[in-house]
Amino acid sequence: MATATQTPERLSSYNPATGELIGSVPIFSAADVDAAVARARVAAQTWSTRTFAARTEELVAFRKALAAAADDLAALMHRENGKPELEALVEVMMSLGHVQHATAIASQAMATRKVSAGMLANFRATISYHPLGVIGVIGPWNYPLFTPMGSIAYALAAGNAVVWKPSELTPLVALEVEKIAKKTFALPDLLQVVTGAGATGAALAKAAVDKVAFTGSAATGKRVMMAAAERLTPVLLELGGKDPMIVDSDADLEKAAEAAVYGALTNAGQACVSVERVYVAEAVHDRFVDEVVKQVRELKVGGDDGHLGAMTSPAQVDIVRDHLQDAIAKGAKVLTGGPDAISGSYIQPTVLTGVDHRMKVMTEETFGPVLPIAKVHSVDEAVQLANDSKYGLGSSVFAGKAARSIADRLRAGMTSVNSVMAFAGIPSLPFGGIGDSGFGRIHGEEGVREFTRVKSTAEQAFSLPLNMMTFRQPKDMTKRLRGMIKQLYGEGVVSRAGDVLRKLRK
Ligand code: NDP
Repeated sequence: MATATQTPERLSSYNPATGELIGSVPIFSAADVDAAVARARVAAQTWSTRTFAARTEELVAFRKALAAAADDLAALMHRENGKPELEALVEVMMSLGHVQHATAIASQAMATRKVSAGMLANFRATISYHPLGVIGVIGPWNYPLFTPMGSIAYALAAGNAVVWKPSELTPLVALEVEKIAKKTFALPDLLQVVTGAGATGAALAKAAVDKVAFTGSAATGKRVMMAAAERLTPVLLELGGKDPMIVDSDADLEKAAEAAVYGALTNAGQACVSVERVYVAEAVHDRFVDEVVKQVRELKVGGDDGHLGAMTSPAQVDIVRDHLQDAIAKGAKVLTGGPDAISGSYIQPTVLTGVDHRMKVMTEETFGPVLPIAKVHSVDEAVQLANDSKYGLGSSVFAGKAARSIADRLRAGMTSVNSVMAFAGIPSLPFGGIGDSGFGRIHGEEGVREFTRVKSTAEQAFSLPLNMMTFRQPKDMTKRLRGMIKQLYGEGVVSRAGDVLRKLRK
């Protein structure tokens, strides 16, 4: 582990299902974080100058070592986060997918590109991509491996070093990954973990890193951005959402219900791209609700074979209870679960109908196993309500022929059509949101380039008689320029933009 020297206190990690103490970790002070970043900078200097082939070799070894530890990582995640072991194993698998994908596409995503030099026809114009240096990753507790790995894998593949602050609720998972990294990477400081609570995260946001990649709430995201602003450090913010699902009258109702149930309840609803609200066409609303209720009643909460595990944080249980009580007070109907069915860290899956946008459950991130279903009179109303949110992360549409056109009207970073959350499992699709869901993209080629700086180079290949970048101009230069403006941009000129317009109008 990266070393913490300044503070004697330690942070305890508990099993949220049983309350059992699983371990304790050091609390990194601001000075410890700065020292880790300084070590990472030295590692980054070497790592960034390695060839893609050399980096690929080490990243492949890292992936294989993580895969070999899959069972242990999943078991630890099950204990520390509360999610069922099966879901933990899926998380490990999806994380490995990103390590593999980032490794495979980095050289292509960062390949130098030749672009048109426009009127400076005697120049070669190129765009090249270079590692930023040190990336600070601040991760959440809900997907303690998958979410941070979406930044870590792409940052490393792009040639950066990483300092990772995991959530105080799930530090042990991060430390296991750090152990594996130390064994596989030749540079021991390439991936370091700094443990602690919010103050350690704040110290990382203020430290001399070249970018901060943060996942968590919008409120903390704003604090991270303000802290990073002191050094003008760029930030990538993944801040959760209020993802809508639209079910049209010609949708396959059984499949739509199955997807809604999974999308809302997987990971006990603690996913930034959970289905948080459903809008169903009037004609099929009742049948859809019946199917959802039937499927929800088949689910088991808790135990070794449970579909839903314990909620990771007690604070989150309080938020869910508050949203449910607010909805009921404003007229929502509880079909399964409900506030009375909350017991300790377990929440029974709760289906609500008769919901509207006066209720927190339809406008604020609930982040729990709750599925509110609203009836709509038209697709237009569904789209309008889906877009009536400060968030804009994921979304989903179940429909027949109109599915794609409905999807295109949704104000969201990502949409799954006739499925849920699929965009998160396709590593080549960029992941991220708009509005209060944040900005910047992880995953895919955009995810690699997110951790690079872009450099433009204009290289003069030969001289032209007319050189505009000198004061030594001929006397008639003004006249010549006037002629050129007419010739290049004036009436009757067949320009590239004109060509494009003609094609677009066809
Ligand atoms: P936070 O946004 O507070 O925490 C996210 C991460 O930021 C954690 O690692 C946390 O550390 C760290 N952190 C806390 N304070 C600071 C700070 N001042 N500067 C830098 N980093 C900091 O989320 P919560 O855990 O409190 O959850 C609250 C809500 O956030 C949830 O109800 C949910 O709506 C949303 N959320 C969204 C997630 C997503 O995937 N987009 C993930 C998690 C939560 P520590 O845990 O040690 O305090």
